[in-house]
Amino acid sequence: MMLPQKATQQLTKQHNRDLVLKTIIESQETSRAEIARATKLTRTTVSDVVAGLMEEGLVQEIGMSTSLGGKPSILLSLVPEARYLIGLNLAQDKFVGAVVNLRGEIKETIEMPVHGEDGQQALDLVYAILDQLTGSEWKPLIGIGVGAPGLINTREGIVINAVNLEWQDLPLAKLLQQRYHLPVSVMNDSQATAIGEFVYGGYNARSNLVVVNVTHGIGSGILIGGKLFQGDGGGAGEIGHVLVFDNHRLCRCGRTGCLETLASAQAVAQRLREESGAAEILDIDEIGHKFAQGDPLTRKIVLEAGQHLGVALGNMVGMLNIKNIIVTGTMTRFGQPWLEAIRQAMRQSALAGMTQETKIEPGKLDYRACILGASAHLLMDDYALLFSSSEN
Ligand SMILES: [Zn+2]
Repeated sequence: MMLPQKATQQLTKQHNRDLVLKTIIESQETSRAEIARATKLTRTTVSDVVAGLMEEGLVQEIGMSTSLGGKPSILLSLVPEARYLIGLNLAQDKFVGAVVNLRGEIKETIEMPVHGEDGQQALDLVYAILDQLTGSEWKPLIGIGVGAPGLINTREGIVINAVNLEWQDLPLAKLLQQRYHLPVSVMNDSQATAIGEFVYGGYNARSNLVVVNVTHGIGSGILIGGKLFQGDGGGAGEIGHVLVFDNHRLCRCGRTGCLETLASAQAVAQRLREESGAAEILDIDEIGHKFAQGDPLTRKIVLEAGQHLGVALGNMVGMLNIKNIIVTGTMTRFGQPWLEAIRQAMRQSALAGMTQETKIEPGKLDYRACILGASAHLLMDDYALLFSSSEN
């Protein structure tokens, strides 16, 4: 198809603008000459684009470089406070929302405990958080990114099924757009967490990364070549419900033998109660305490949970040959002994040539990863939102 010349020019302009902006965002400071070198655009084009970005308030001049030999040049950087985004994490025992600047720095956080709210009540909690954050001093706001549990259709912003919240086919993005008149992105919380760890973890822009979130449930997000891989139905990375071995324990998905029934925080707590004969189920802090004290039964159960996870990750490495795996979530409190159990089992369940270079490390951002990833996703492939915000 031939585009009219004017449309083609417009596209080229937008492409150049995004290219220059991306280069500025990815470096703390840079110069027009460096941008020209990195983007292969002409100096004149770069200067024109930079002038436009400065006019938008997105880019600023921050002084002169002190390069040895060469001519000093004017340094440019992003203006982190030029725009704000909202990120939401709906996957915990509390809902957390935050205003985030363009460098991923959290400006304000609101938490609301969730005590079994579901359906409309849970939605009302989301509104309560967003009413406060959209009314705050941080302006202009350019979008809302949501990390929600369960199966999500990200393209249409629909929560297909989030069991704990009793949301089914909930058009969350549409509801929030109508209420707040802002663009909204909704994605699975583990996928959002993966984006957060990736974007703010210092990875090369085209790296591969798997981020596994091990809490009450287990999920993961897969980035291939720096892009989130969601699969054909949006559920890529849902490793919590792959069969590891049939322990005849009923999973919340209705089947038995899922990884979640073997390796999640919930599974550990349940098994510990059964095998210790305790009257009550312990919370994760109490289990952590027993583990740190060296209680043999607790250590056995936690480390076996790590091994089961390692087997599942070995299968993943066998299929994807990924070298960087990050684990996040409440189970990371069991530290190196748990990680080592995962690593050993991972190495035993795939070819040595593929696993020997695979690193399994804890994440750096805790629950903030989901918030930062959900908000970063709004700008991931398209900076257009940055340029249509003047009326908000
Ligand atoms: Zn299951």
